[in-house]
Amino acid sequence: INYYIYYAKNTIMKYIFYFLGTVLLLGQEKPKPEATEYWEPEPVVVTPAQDNLPPSDAIVLFDGSDLSKWRNARGGGEASWIINDNGSMTVTRNGGIETIDEHGSIQLHIEWRTPTKMEGKGQGRGNSGIIFQRRYEVQILDSYNNRTYSNGQAASIYKQYAPLVNASKPPGEWQSYDIIFTEPEFDKIGIMTKRGRFTVFHNGILVQNNVEILGTTEYIGMPKIGKNEISGYMGKNTKKNLYIQDHGNPVEFRNIWMRKL
Ligand code: MG
Repeated sequence: INYYIYYAKNTIMKYIFYFLGTVLLLGQEKPKPEATEYWEPEPVVVTPAQDNLPPSDAIVLFDGSDLSKWRNARGGGEASWIINDNGSMTVTRNGGIETIDEHGSIQLHIEWRTPTKMEGKGQGRGNSGIIFQRRYEVQILDSYNNRTYSNGQAASIYKQYAPLVNASKPPGEWQSYDIIFTEPEFDKIGIMTKRGRFTVFHNGILVQNNVEILGTTEYIGMPKIGKNEISGYMGKNTKKNLYIQDHGNPVEFRNIWMRKL
């Protein structure tokens, strides 16, 4: 009989427990979709433009009219690349050009084309490059049926990362880069505490997916990571300007704009 009493007690307790649990659950507030919304801060309104033209908050670096945002990167004199009637400019053998202002983390849009008349091969055909903060180069090259080392072809992070795919158009056709550059961070004594990063779209195709920049671009040897170290082929300048390379080929550029990040 003791067993039956024990059993009955237990069963009653069990149902009381279930009942209390149900009451508790019903009494609780139901989670609402609003609980995971946030409204502040509201993203700033930016007006996109048609046909790849700059959005409303962009800093226009070149729109075909003049080179006032640029200077010669060797002596600091006037940028003397040729401005063409079609809204583009052409590299001349006067050395690279750089922006007058330095830059931090940016989104960059730039359009370029290599000469229709194919001259040279490998690194010698349609070579230029965009060098961020005078240290980190995204390669420009005619890589349409023009083999070279993979981490030196168009849209490579030069000598560091090959592009994921070769999205090159034939020489003489306009191509675009949309690049997100995140600058590296350094501590007070100049040691890198956070690597920089590149994401690159070549003609709208993802070719560099948030890769870690290993250090300065070097033609020979390993990248450098000190705050005041500069790329081996960039001269003795520790400034952080955006630089376009003169590699001896008449590459054209147009529609260059950036947005600060
Ligand atoms: Mg180059």
